[in-house]
Amino acid sequence: MAERMLKFVSTPQAMPEKRPAAERRRDFDEIYARFARERAAEQAARCSQCGVPFCQIHCPLHNNIPDWLKLTAEGRLEEAYELSSATNNFPEICGRICPQDRLCEGNCVIEKGFESVTIGSVEKFITDSAWDQGWVKPIQPRRERAESVGIVGAGPAGLAAAEQLRRKGYQVTLYDRYDRVGGLLIYGIPNFKLEKEIVQRREQLLRASEVAFELNCDVGRTISLAELRARHDALLMATGVYKARDITAPGVGLPGIVPALDYLTASNRNGLGDMVPDFDSGALNAKGKNVVVLGGGDTAMDCVRTAVRQGARSVKCLYRRDRANMPGSQREVKHAEEEGVEFVWLTAPQAFLGKQAVSHVRSVRIHLGMPDATGRQTPQEIPNSHVNVEADLVLKALGFDPEDLPNSMDAPDLAVTGWGTLKIDWRSMMTSLDGVFAAGDIVRGASLVVWAVRDGRDAAERIHSYLTTRAAATARAAAD
Ligand SMILES: Cc1cc2nc3c(=O)[nH]c(=O)nc-3n(C[C@H](O)[C@H](O)[C@H](O)COP(=O)(O)OP(=O)(O)OC[C@H]3O[C@@H](n4cnc5c(N)ncnc54)[C@H](O)[C@@H]3O)c2cc1C
Ligand code: SF4
Repeated sequence: MAERMLKFVSTPQAMPEKRPAAERRRDFDEIYARFARERAAEQAARCSQCGVPFCQIHCPLHNNIPDWLKLTAEGRLEEAYELSSATNNFPEICGRICPQDRLCEGNCVIEKGFESVTIGSVEKFITDSAWDQGWVKPIQPRRERAESVGIVGAGPAGLAAAEQLRRKGYQVTLYDRYDRVGGLLIYGIPNFKLEKEIVQRREQLLRASEVAFELNCDVGRTISLAELRARHDALLMATGVYKARDITAPGVGLPGIVPALDYLTASNRNGLGDMVPDFDSGALNAKGKNVVVLGGGDTAMDCVRTAVRQGARSVKCLYRRDRANMPGSQREVKHAEEEGVEFVWLTAPQAFLGKQAVSHVRSVRIHLGMPDATGRQTPQEIPNSHVNVEADLVLKALGFDPEDLPNSMDAPDLAVTGWGTLKIDWRSMMTSLDGVFAAGDIVRGASLVVWAVRDGRDAAERIHSYLTTRAAATARAAAD
């Protein structure tokens, strides 16, 4: 069937239909429609079936992309789903929110001259179809194991680890301080990128697979880490990073200047039907306001696009570097611009002005100077280039650091790195505490969902090795 492939010369790249910006601005629904089956097959057939597939090499999960593209082109969707789900616990989530332009698609060899294969959209199509067809089934382990594993954090790292451990027959309990499952997938990332039902059906699948959840359980407060260690044979810390980075500038304490995640969580909770007093009062609602977002990463992109949908009067994104040097996905910037967001590149805030509340961000223009030791050009202020940007809601999207876990969990022996992330032995993924492993953002620092899934899967393997080695040693000791 090889003749079905290599169609990149005759078939142009086409994404699924994108809703017009004017319509998108009015709701929080996802912006792309799903591929029709024939269109997915046609786009998958553009793949040139590279001998050395750079898409796969640059995917953190090393997804077998060329093979599932070929199966999709041949109409063998169920096999495509099996292959795609063999390396990824949530292909339909990664298909929606991975920055493919920096990972698989950005490294697709036909990108030069013909535009890449639309890998993410095909990936999403395959697994959405699998859900529709009933091919995604609860886990039924071949054998049950007596050992139990506790996982702290029900974000993508914890959920991926839970699924992998349950497949091996372990008794798994996930603990989370939130009232819902999903971590940043549920309260950080907005609906227009990832509809909540997509995350919730994964939760239901795990529940049907007999994974237990204890929500509203803040480890360190509701229950101690020591108690959890005594309750389980192994623990996985997958708590993410939540301490918002701040800015030190005059006026930063004025009302109307808020951390980005507080704002996004309020919006997501409102969309989920929760009572959110700070949203209703307007404190965390952009309706009718001049909004300024500080930062250039994924969080900043989510803030500007949420503000547009809430009916902001104007939305500006201030970033101290230029478009080419921003950390966020270029695709997201394009969506945001279409939706009416203004990007003010090479501009940094210096002070916040206002009497009762913020009214302006005093900013200075930036010139990118010589590269520093990391190779990035150093931002330098241009003298006398100040401008006051009107703002009655300022969202600080400046990144996240880890919380102080040894302190909050009353575990002084839990070793951390200089950045405050959990220190692990990279081969065993174990922290400084015996039987306590760690994965996801709390180890890497703020990263990506696909890396959290990869780490969760790797940690599940290491926990399995630890528990089987320990069981073998116990059996040997009993026999002696
Ligand atoms: C606004 C925003 C947008 C993003 N957009 C994208 C994107 O488009 N694409 C992408 O790939 N990545 C994106 N990311 C990054 C991505 O969401 C994270 O890298 C990923 O969620 C990390 O997964 P995790 O499981 O390590 O942590 P998290 O998803 O943060 O989950 C950690 C969980 O641990 C729980 N927890 C923490 N402390 C405790 C405790 N003491 N007791 C009990 N539970 C606890 C938390 O409540 C949470 O549920 C975005 C991040 C943000 C903030
Ligand atoms: S790099 Fe592009 S063309 Fe090559 S196998 Fe991957 S998707 Fe196909």
